[in-house]
Amino acid sequence: SVADDQSVQNGQDLRSPICCIMGHVDAGKTKILDCIRGTNVQEGEAGGITQQIGATYLPAENIRERTKGLKADAKLNVPGLLVIDTPGHESFTKLRSRGSGLCDIAVLVVDIMHGLEPQTIESLNLLKMGNTDFVIALNKVDRLYGWKTFRNAPIGKAIRQQSKDVMSEFNRRLTEIITQFKEQGLNTELYYKNKEMGETYNIVPTSAISGEGIPDLLLLLVQWTQKTMITRLTYSEKVQCTVLDIKAIEGHGTTIDVVLVNGVLHEGDQIVVCGMQEPIVTSIRALLTPHPMRELRVKGTYLPHKEIKAAQCIKIAAQELEHAIAGASLYVVGPNDDIEAIKKSTVEYKNSVMSRIHKSGKGVYVQASTLGSLEALLDFLETPAVNIPVSSISIGPVHIKDVKKASAMLDKKKEYGTILAFDVKVTPEARKLADENGVKIFTADIIYHLFDQFKAYIDNLKEEKKREAAEEAVFPCVLKIMPNCVFNKKDPIVLGVRVVQGIAKIGTPICVPGREFVEIGRVASIENNHKPVDYAKKGHEVAIKIIGSNPEEQQKMVGRHFEIEDELVSKISSKSVDALRKYYADDLSTEESKLLSKLEKLFKILSFNL
Ligand code: GDP
Repeated sequence: SVADDQSVQNGQDLRSPICCIMGHVDAGKTKILDCIRGTNVQEGEAGGITQQIGATYLPAENIRERTKGLKADAKLNVPGLLVIDTPGHESFTKLRSRGSGLCDIAVLVVDIMHGLEPQTIESLNLLKMGNTDFVIALNKVDRLYGWKTFRNAPIGKAIRQQSKDVMSEFNRRLTEIITQFKEQGLNTELYYKNKEMGETYNIVPTSAISGEGIPDLLLLLVQWTQKTMITRLTYSEKVQCTVLDIKAIEGHGTTIDVVLVNGVLHEGDQIVVCGMQEPIVTSIRALLTPHPMRELRVKGTYLPHKEIKAAQCIKIAAQELEHAIAGASLYVVGPNDDIEAIKKSTVEYKNSVMSRIHKSGKGVYVQASTLGSLEALLDFLETPAVNIPVSSISIGPVHIKDVKKASAMLDKKKEYGTILAFDVKVTPEARKLADENGVKIFTADIIYHLFDQFKAYIDNLKEEKKREAAEEAVFPCVLKIMPNCVFNKKDPIVLGVRVVQGIAKIGTPICVPGREFVEIGRVASIENNHKPVDYAKKGHEVAIKIIGSNPEEQQKMVGRHFEIEDELVSKISSKSVDALRKYYADDLSTEESKLLSKLEKLFKILSFNL
């Protein structure tokens, strides 16, 4: 209706958009956040900015003041902008509020000197998957050679006053980065040249050090969200709230930090939050925010509120929050609400994530800080390129009970006796027990670092097993004694041979599988052109020394136990074939593999006849 449009225009019915910052490490996410917060502004609390729990709130007034230079006559319909404080945190993109992403918009930070980097692409994929809109901050423009600083200036103005060289260097890098985005399937353009906003993503050049472009970034974030997300940003009485963190606080017991995306919370409200076992029904004892004045901000002191309206980050004190889990929605029970139905919706998301363990019951133990981050980790582990099965999952710090559960897997497969801990702490007791039991715990706050660690561990285990299996595994070979090349008939036997097929290695047991099967001994050394070597391949002519495998037995002798015309063959067994196929499959050529099958058959027949 017209009346509604009017109130929307006046900004009375919109809530503040919620924004998070992502990008490759060192792109400048933290610095941009500092710059937005104005912590580099000398006067301390810059123009009404309030520090929240895990977020910073910029009132519209502050944004208007800082974007004056843009002469945009900033029509701000939203009350402000809520910027989530933990930059680059993968779990944020997965945090949801009633099914859709928690953040309304993201800033993807790209270093203009480096272009797209692995984590930029990773972030892009997360944003695409979560269907989250974003703008690109092309950061560190001040690092262009010869850049003249215009502190906190709009970017257009700053660029126009640069030298020709700086401008052309800027354009060259910009074009390159636009091409890189294109390769990722995205159209991008400088925001003030963008004629197809919505289809073409906006780039805002910035310097987080000298502040150029930061006004543009702020204005774009607010104007773009209030223009394209009216429905999403319309204030509603229905509470939309997500639990971010669970913390014990002196004087308040266990508290939960939440993002109130929409609606209003009151002291005394009855709430339902997701618990590790059961849904938790309790009531809000206190709604807390950090003390607004920095001088008074003693650690652990908070300001209580009777009520708080979205969008804000708040600490809630209540009873029985010990087993609450992060990443799920918080519900408020209204006077006419069916509490059982609410309890059911509370655990729906949790159950959908927790049920994603491997059907075989075999796999690693996975632990994360929130449901969202757990879900992100599971998504990642399931991708074909990674493909790590998961047997159990948990949320929150790694405790002794988790280690116990993980150690049960050690008997099934050593590498599965592993805990992949994403963005959570490990208690010292748990660490100690893990060391004792041989459970590996890998911790990281970037998902693919966990993968790297686990992969290195598996590769290492494989190498170890390969070394252990080296005794057992026998490579196939067929050797022919060359004319006049019996250098020593016995003790040890030294022969000049040609490798007819396969590969002869030091340690290979040699036999003569002729009419009368003879075991000769093991290859003790090989010389090629008088130089010692570890192996000889098909076609090589080498000298080999063979010593008896068993010193108790009579040593074999050329001319007595076998003849110079006889073919010498590596002696294989079903056990040696297994070891070879299991640990050295990659080292066998197709031809060698064929020879192995042939010899395997031969020895089967021989053992049958013996
Ligand atoms: P993050 O890992 O993405 O959070 O990156 P940081 O914010 O910690 O920045 C990484 C490094 O780049 C730090 O040494 C910053 O001082 C520097 N840096 C960040 N933004 C800028 C910028 O706009 N210009 C310049 N010259 N340096 C920057």
